[in-house]
Amino acid sequence: MTSPLFAAIRDEILASGPIGLDRYMTLCLGHPVYGYYRTRDPLGASGDFITAPEISQMFGELIGIWIAATWGAMGAPPDLALVELGPGRGTLMQDALRALSRAAPTLRPALHLVETSPVLREVQATRLAAAAPTWHDSIDTLPRAPTLVIANEFFDALPVRQFQRTARGWFERLVGLAPDGTALVFGLAAEPDTRITATGPDGVLMTLPSAALEIVRSLARRLVADRGAALIIDYGHVRPGFGDSLQAMRGHGFVPPLATPGEADLTTHVDFSALGRAARVEGATLHGPADQRDVLAALGLRERAERLGRDASPAQRDAITAAVARLTDPSRRGMGSLFKAMAFSDPSLTALPGLPTAPS
Ligand code: SAH
Repeated sequence: MTSPLFAAIRDEILASGPIGLDRYMTLCLGHPVYGYYRTRDPLGASGDFITAPEISQMFGELIGIWIAATWGAMGAPPDLALVELGPGRGTLMQDALRALSRAAPTLRPALHLVETSPVLREVQATRLAAAAPTWHDSIDTLPRAPTLVIANEFFDALPVRQFQRTARGWFERLVGLAPDGTALVFGLAAEPDTRITATGPDGVLMTLPSAALEIVRSLARRLVADRGAALIIDYGHVRPGFGDSLQAMRGHGFVPPLATPGEADLTTHVDFSALGRAARVEGATLHGPADQRDVLAALGLRERAERLGRDASPAQRDAITAAVARLTDPSRRGMGSLFKAMAFSDPSLTALPGLPTAPS
């Protein structure tokens, strides 16, 4: 194994034993020197994966429309904090702010970006200079004010824990060393975790989105107290379920998750039902989840594409049509239906643009 992070992980395992998947993901993605997001810009054609705002400006523009309409529904508070979690290259926010300045010209939100990657912070600083953003390492330092939060492909990158069902109960899945010490392998904890009360067939894996749950709980408490809403867009599932969705991506292809620590993007499918339940427990109102294609359609994707197409060259028109297909077609990389949108808000917001209100 050649990855420079491997030696650090091996030493940690040799010193204190196998580590949880959450610790492994934290090191792979966030290690201060070798972490995946610390060392590179992973987005786009030359990177490891591509996201909706990088496919088309229409995505961010429709989010801008959502922000304008939701701000209106909040009674247009002048001191709005606009927060993005994991803003990547700042493309979504740049497109959203442009649409927002047309849809809500009187709104001058204070822009707050939660981002740990120094590489991406630099890209964001260039793209979003006009909006004078404030950066945060975590949500803990966000201001107490009426708030709208946007998070696209952020929650899938957060560390999770996994547990496997056996005849003796649920055992945490751990990352350890192969007997010859040259590779990382999955194993199970020596003792079952008796706090887990779920039932499931023997052998099945359960994923606990520990970091995402903590962020959702904390955001929901803030939004209920200070007013506002959070919009989460990600790939994931809406029914609770078992299975392993841990995946590693490198150069637009899948690689084994333990093979190249720090060199590949590690993600899991977002468990929208677990996150939605957590938000509700804190008193928030849930909107959705719904398929990305339906939400984008409700926010006016077709109309926006037609508007753009009117002043475009034939080649540009083809690109717009291809982008609409990519964002909505369930058969292409699954963005239309594998991708979901869900929001939670303070209870005074009984309906949000583009999203169905979840039955209580
Ligand atoms: N939203 C962007 C980027 C998605 S990639 C887009 O749609 O294109 C994930 C983003 O989350 C990156 O900006 C990454 O640096 C950031 N990120 C990952 N883990 C994070 C964490 N724990 N705290 C803050 N930001 C994080």
